[in-house]
Amino acid sequence: MTPAPDSFAALKLSAPLLKALADVGYETPSPIQAACIPPLLEGHDILGEAQTGTGKTAAFALPLLQKINVSLAKPQALILTPTRELAIQVAEALQRYAKHLPGFHVLPVYGGQSMVVQLRQLSRGAHVIVGTPGRVMDHLERKSLVLDNLTTLVLDEADEMLRMGFIDDVEWILNHTPATRQTALFSATMPDIIRRVAHKHLRNPKEIKIRSATTTVAAISQAYIQTHAGNKLEALTRVLEIEDDLDAALIFVRTKIATVELADKLEARGYSAAALSGDLTQALREQVIERLKSGSLDIVVATDVAARGLDVARISHVINFDVPYDTEAYVHRIGRTGRAGRTGRAILFITPRETRMLGAIERATRQKITPLAMPTPNEVANRRVAQFTQQILDTLKDEKLEFFFDVVRRIENENEIGAREIAAALAYLAQKDRPLQLAGHQAAATSDAPRPRATAGNIAPVGAGDTPSSKPRAPREASPYAVANDAAAAPKRERAPRESFTEDAPRPRRTDSAPKRHDLSDAPARYRIEIGKNQGVMPKEIVGAIANEAGIDGKQIGQINLFDDYTTVELPGNLPADVMDVLQRIRVRQFALKARVLAPGEFVEDSRPPRKAAPRKPFDGPRKSFDGPKKDFDKPRKAYDGPRSGHAPPRSRPPFDSAKKPSGATRKVTLGPRKPKI
Ligand code: AMP
Repeated sequence: MTPAPDSFAALKLSAPLLKALADVGYETPSPIQAACIPPLLEGHDILGEAQTGTGKTAAFALPLLQKINVSLAKPQALILTPTRELAIQVAEALQRYAKHLPGFHVLPVYGGQSMVVQLRQLSRGAHVIVGTPGRVMDHLERKSLVLDNLTTLVLDEADEMLRMGFIDDVEWILNHTPATRQTALFSATMPDIIRRVAHKHLRNPKEIKIRSATTTVAAISQAYIQTHAGNKLEALTRVLEIEDDLDAALIFVRTKIATVELADKLEARGYSAAALSGDLTQALREQVIERLKSGSLDIVVATDVAARGLDVARISHVINFDVPYDTEAYVHRIGRTGRAGRTGRAILFITPRETRMLGAIERATRQKITPLAMPTPNEVANRRVAQFTQQILDTLKDEKLEFFFDVVRRIENENEIGAREIAAALAYLAQKDRPLQLAGHQAAATSDAPRPRATAGNIAPVGAGDTPSSKPRAPREASPYAVANDAAAAPKRERAPRESFTEDAPRPRRTDSAPKRHDLSDAPARYRIEIGKNQGVMPKEIVGAIANEAGIDGKQIGQINLFDDYTTVELPGNLPADVMDVLQRIRVRQFALKARVLAPGEFVEDSRPPRKAAPRKPFDGPRKSFDGPKKDFDKPRKAYDGPRSGHAPPRSRPPFDSAKKPSGATRKVTLGPRKPKI
């Protein structure tokens, strides 16, 4: 792949799009954008091997928007996505990029949403439709969606659509769109079936793949922490508190705006942090780097571009707050630590959808990236206690305390209280600005607290009160699953957060009505649902309902066996109560699933032989109506047994290796207020 051009303007994007990109703070095109945008603007078909996190949405969205004739209120582009969540997300991205295209309208359509609402929205006219294959087919059959003016068709996450059993629907849709259309197909992997579809339906496509160079990064220990976008800041502050040997940290984000926002938030929490982006003048940039070198600054939040060539030996940690676009960027980022013969530590924050990137990075760096669980409030509190203890020991060793001994003795004598009580009161006063205990959590100040000396890091937030975890637990909202929401009217939002918090961490508050994605790593269990062959159900409908309504990733849905009046499905064991609740209530073909875990032996004792239905590639020909019975459900189903991807989220936190710390190293423990210097 040729080196990415430095600006979006060089890609010949129109002024309104460039303005929108500046608004969202994108500095430079990502490699996939640099590679895809020019050929798409020239009208070529594209076969792109790219995963989530590479910036592929903008790669197809920007050229598509450039071609939209806003005065024609007819669908001119169709984007097919495997899930409703992705459909909404892509539609939101399009709306952001089209901010300066007055009158532009994008409509997400997906199963589970009210047909009546969708029909009304479609009749009002939209320039771009983003939808899941089943619902798009329904609308095409009903003629509520007419694609006579379609010029662009995008297949996003084609391998996911294949895995979820939608590939025949996709082909049906491809066959019902104008042959003159431009087509872009994106897939994280390229199994043969996808290649066959591409060969059949794309015209002389340009093949684009992000190169994954392999590099050795021996001096750097790498870890990842799985979290959702909404919880990253909390995770970051906890990681910063408990990491060993933290001297200075370089934190990578994607946009210029994010550098400033995150640096501000860290400063507000008492860290000495500054932003480094392409917006800074050379003089200011040098000033920031100098301060980082001299130790008056501990954290720099940077974009890839701004951190190019940064060489500061003090940087002990590189934190990938946002995943890089590709493995090359990752290797470049983490190369900012482990310099001048030192060892370095790289921590990657990864959301469930980005887990593929993890495998790619492991391959590229030829190194295992170890999972890191979200540090618990207790761990944070214990670390603070250890730092406090260290501070007391250092003071006893280094300071002249005769006068203070006298003061304490006087207080003891005059008030008839013991030295321990006085010490406790002093400890309270000393930590008032930065409590040792996170509110609502008990710090184990004794046995399981880390020992002083081996723990204290250089970076410590001070004087800024507590981390956000100290806020009272947010009330949980009513179940969001029951109601099909109107995505077009839905407020803009991040993906629904859920994360691998331990039991004593606060649960994030849900802010929207879309289902949470559940990245459950429990051992699979077999569940029974009350719909079967006699009700004409197809595995893909079950997969679609479970994935979309219960927020369970398609990858976590295993074998499906259809029986006459019920079906068994393999799902993660120990599903949370709220997910079980949804699984009981959601309806497929009017039947509530009433899911329950099969009792041990219940399945094997069943006398009827299971009809093994492969959920991954059911085919029953074009659907006649959107909820009518399917005619050929007895046909043998072809199983797609392609590779499954995704890393299991971390199960347990590996103990930090306190022995790592150089013996006798005197760490500066900063418990008193440290004013940010910028
Ligand atoms: P995607 O791979 O399309 O899901 O994009 C992943 C994330 O990268 C999204 O949050 C985008 O907003 C962001 N993003 C995409 N392109 C750029 C860019 N050129 N600069 C900064 N952020 C970007």
